[in-house]
Amino acid sequence: MYEVYADLHVHIGRSENGKPIKITAARSLNFANIAKECYERKGINLVGVIDCASPYVIEDIENFLKNGDAYELEKGGIIYKDKVCIILGSEVETSEIREDGKKGSAHNLCYFPHLSDIKAFSDELSHHLKNITLSTQRTDLSGYDLVDIVEKYNGVLVPAHCFTPYKSYYGNCTDSLRKIFKEKYDRIYAIELGLSSDTYLADEISELEEKTFLTNSDAHSLPRIAREYNKMEMEDINFEEFVKVLKREDGRKVAVNYGLDPKLGKYHRTYCEVCGKQIPGKAPVTKCDTCDSRNITMGVFDRIEIIKDKKESKSPKFRPEYVYQIPLTFIPGIGPKAIDKLLQHFGTEMTVLHKLTDDDIESFCGEKMAQSIINARDGKIKIAERAEEEITVELA
Ligand SMILES: [Zn+2]
Ligand SMILES: [Zn+2]
Repeated sequence: MYEVYADLHVHIGRSENGKPIKITAARSLNFANIAKECYERKGINLVGVIDCASPYVIEDIENFLKNGDAYELEKGGIIYKDKVCIILGSEVETSEIREDGKKGSAHNLCYFPHLSDIKAFSDELSHHLKNITLSTQRTDLSGYDLVDIVEKYNGVLVPAHCFTPYKSYYGNCTDSLRKIFKEKYDRIYAIELGLSSDTYLADEISELEEKTFLTNSDAHSLPRIAREYNKMEMEDINFEEFVKVLKREDGRKVAVNYGLDPKLGKYHRTYCEVCGKQIPGKAPVTKCDTCDSRNITMGVFDRIEIIKDKKESKSPKFRPEYVYQIPLTFIPGIGPKAIDKLLQHFGTEMTVLHKLTDDDIESFCGEKMAQSIINARDGKIKIAERAEEEITVELA
């Protein structure tokens, strides 16, 4: 088995010719640059690009395949310079009717083996939303219907960041995924945890015990790729092997989830929209402790407190360790120039985080910086992420 570092949730900001795909994402975040960043700097061998149903992106992929560094694999996925396998995906927003009669919406990661599959999927999807060229547009489909469409084109569906408020199944639609997918629930092999939750929290819900957990970055810019990622064990990098990992078939599996401490996530605790702060206190918090307002956004921790059905968190035997780790770009005292030097010398971020000894690092960058990197590798540095692109850092 190979150890493979995987990030299955990366957006595209603009197409190569400047057409907007995800408006809130960086301009430089295009298909070719993602492949390059994973290969040259991150050391990510399996990357899911989840805006590939946009016809502008499909055009970019076709051009990308023409210039020789990349080709489609028979077993699915696009291999770039023999090192990075790109999984073609699409994030789809579904509409659900909640038990209280109101409408809810949830995000779904849909992954496909071949360009022809996602092209056909894109075609069909275009009948269910307003603008197929843009990322993650709302559809009139429910998750229950979407699974069939995804499988029709040989794909798999993974509920995205499944606890976050507004745009997720548990956050916005239901207290039970099984109620959404009904008899199709066994065809959901995995869920994505999202930045504000972790394995410990998700394993308070019994219906998730059989599911594989994914930790992905949801990157809106190149540096954010691999902010969270997975170490997988697989025989090769391609779509078929990726699905085996999700199903935990023939020894393939997620071996480690690497993610931020959910306490530092933007949506961890209930947030007062009036005071602009997270509300402490015993979960679930349903109103502000300062201004009494109920104009709140329900936090992931608080939401799980409401829907959990286990007395305590208990993980099934196969569940891998969840390691709290922060990426190089978040480490205090290490600027972009220092990171460039580090990567020039050692190769990729995954090498620095996983392969080097403490001595290797110290001999290259001196005691002070080395200690910061070593602390980060050991999960001893805390970072607080207040907003998507605004990050404050503090030493633990
Ligand atoms: Zn999403
Ligand atoms: Zn308040």
